[in-house]
Formats: sequence, structure tokens, C-alpha cells
Amino acid sequence: MRAAMGNPLQDRRTPQDFAASGQVIEISEKIGNFQKLAEIVEADLGALEPDKLPRDWRESPVAGQLGFGFIDAQRGIPALEGQVVATINAVCQRCLEPFRLPVEVELRLLFGGDQSAGDGDNGYEVWELHEDELCTADLIEEALIMAMPLSAMHEDNAQCVTKDKSEEGQGKIVRPFANLKSQMVEEN
Ligand SMILES: [Zn+2]
Repeated sequence: MRAAMGNPLQDRRTPQDFAASGQVIEISEKIGNFQKLAEIVEADLGALEPDKLPRDWRESPVAGQLGFGFIDAQRGIPALEGQVVATINAVCQRCLEPFRLPVEVELRLLFGGDQSAGDGDNGYEVWELHEDELCTADLIEEALIMAMPLSAMHEDNAQCVTKDKSEEGQGKIVRPFANLKSQMVEEN
């Protein structure tokens, strides 16, 4: 069902329909708007001492733009192109301190059962749909989850506060982030 004044991100339409109208979607969301993604982030941050928990992690931005069209002259193969950038609060698996992890996804996707269209040199990947209709919010969420590293770490060693790796400390390292992600991938 389509909301009358809703966000097109939440629309459920077929990819053909999005493409036929040349739909462009501006994304200006927050991590907290994506339930599964927020659950993963929350589980990851759960490893932190309460006083280190970033209070505003749900407010971190998810921004970008998507555009739909057809990649073939016959207007038979709907496609989506765009970019999504998110800032995710994560726990560094090396120093166990919170940090802000930028996650950027470039999307060049086409829809439809014809796998061969996604091979070739056109640079598009086939996005499998489990139903006729597509909700771009769900697609973005799944793409961001897939783009998150299994083991998030500070890229800059200087920011990575190396702790005394005592045996006690080692035993405490939990990685719900990686476990939850692999669980979700299996479910899908
Ligand atoms: Zn670190």
C-alpha cells in the first residue's frame, strides 16, 4: 500500500513501475529508521561499557540518491543506479573502543529473472527479488548490511588505542556484530 504523501523510499512498486516513471529517490534518513540495521549496530555497541556508549547512534545519517530507468531500448529490463553513504557507530575489534565507521555503497542493479543480463560488461549486478514488488528502503538496508565489515576496525592505527592484551581481556571479546550478520545472511 502506498502512502499518499509518503516517502518514496517506503513505496512498494514493481521495478518496472519505478523505471517507467523514472523515479528518483533522495535519501535523507537515520540509522534508527532501518530496523534490522539498527539491531545489528545495537548488538555491536552492546559490547561497550555503558559510559562509552554513543548516545546518539540512532541519529547517524544515511544519505544518498537512487534513480530508476531501463538499461535496454525495449524498456524490458529495469535498473537502479545510485549511491548510499552511512555513518555507523561501531566497536573497533582491535582496541574495543567505539568509533564512527563510514559505509559507502555504489549501486548498479538490474531486476528480472534473466541472470545473463547481469554478466557482460555493463557493470550491473542482478538483484534478486523474492516478490514482485520492491521496497527501496529494504534494498538499501540489505545493501548496507552486506557492505559492513565482519570485523570493524579503526583504519588509522594512530586512533586505535592498543590495550594491554591480558588473558582476561582476550576472553571478553565478543563479536555479536559478525554473528548477527552471518545469521541474517543465512536467513535471506
Ligand atoms: Zn581501534
